[in-house]
Amino acid sequence: MLGYSSFLSESRFRINTLMSATSTAANDRTRLVIGNWKMHGNLSDNAALLAALRPAATTTQVAVCVPFPYLAQVAEALQGTAVSWGAQDVSTQVQGAYTGEISAPMLKDFGCRWVLVGHSERRSMHGESDQLVADKARAALAAGVTPVVCVGESLAERDAGQAIAVIHRQLAPVLALGADSVTKLVVAYEPVWAIGTGRTATPEQAQEVHAAIRAALQAVGAGNVQILYGGSVKASNAASLFSMPDIDGALVGGASLVADEFLRIAA
Ligand code: PEP
Repeated sequence: MLGYSSFLSESRFRINTLMSATSTAANDRTRLVIGNWKMHGNLSDNAALLAALRPAATTTQVAVCVPFPYLAQVAEALQGTAVSWGAQDVSTQVQGAYTGEISAPMLKDFGCRWVLVGHSERRSMHGESDQLVADKARAALAAGVTPVVCVGESLAERDAGQAIAVIHRQLAPVLALGADSVTKLVVAYEPVWAIGTGRTATPEQAQEVHAAIRAALQAVGAGNVQILYGGSVKASNAASLFSMPDIDGALVGGASLVADEFLRIAA
């Protein structure tokens, strides 16, 4: 049992820690909410969704990452609004005989501000390695497009107590790009078991990993990078996730296809 004076100093320590972490998050990092449309959409459904997003005006940065064929439509619809846009993948190459690939300068041509790299669906379905993901981040940065580097452990890895070790392994080649590059990117922590499953990490589970990511970023001089949480984020759970000191926003899949739900997450 704690004595009364130990209890008081323990409480003071906890409150001070919480306040300093909270003020850093609130003061230095703008909240960022990015929708990942994945392989959804068609010209007419997109038009309705984009029309609903156009008036969005929040202090949160809001963006959508859309399938390549719709970049022109999205650029035209969102030009001059507070909502920016991006893509869901990028080549490591600038141009050449790479059939089916899309380069970062091409994304730039369509006004992309963001590109997702290393989404778990690309890592698992397309065998993308940690090094390839870092190479894609480098290519995006070279073209002036901000990479959103996705990391996250599987359920088996979490159950084996490996979550943070997996994140460190995935981040290592990205951190090796150096402080100048790392300070310009965004990291998204997306536990694979929470993506599209309706099962969200608790704010405390997410914060534990975000704090580890923050420490790894700090170690290379990039402690102020925005770290987003992704995995079944909805309007009903966003506020509790965003109350955590190292959660700076969200990467939103399914809920980003419903304008009202997406805007309530970003509100
Ligand atoms: C995602 O696609 O990055 C994602 C987090 O999906 P969902 O929000 O549907 O879980």
